Amino acid sequence: MKFPVCDNCIKSGILCPECTKKFEDKRISETDIELAALLYEMETKELIRNASFERTVIADDLLLVLTKGDVANMIGKKGRIVRQLSKRFRKTVRIIKDGDLKTKMEDLIAPARLLGINIIYKSGEQNTKLMISNEDQSKLITHKDILEKAARLLAKDNSITIEFK
Ligand SMILES: [Zn+2]
Repeated sequence: MKFPVCDNCIKSGILCPECTKKFEDKRISETDIELAALLYEMETKELIRNASFERTVIADDLLLVLTKGDVANMIGKKGRIVRQLSKRFRKTVRIIKDGDLKTKMEDLIAPARLLGINIIYKSGEQNTKLMISNEDQSKLITHKDILEKAARLLAKDNSITIEFK
């Protein structure tokens, strides 16, 4: 499995100079390190296979785990891995495919459907709007403002808002 921290650091629980630098530069977080250790343990017990863990994003009660591998692998059989992570971190866990903007946003709001992404430029400023069907409002996993916060962190775009239509 691929982790944002090196194998030695995961096994020893002590950060090597290289990973310490990553941590100090805020390229990895405490949650990243904790999650890497947990996933490593799961992989050893063969609960998980061929997963790739890139980074985590936290927005209030939401913990997003970005993967470049198969999302289904990280969710686990009948959602077993997601459930374990939820319990451990006491947050709603979402596995997000680390792809383009559309892919990430679709994974974030699922099972609600993304109708489209509108990017509007107005007096030199960019405004990104995620359009979600009105009927799907009740399918969102958490409040709209938390999802907006998560979307902004995920896409590194502070202008993102969600609109229902
Ligand atoms: Zn290291």
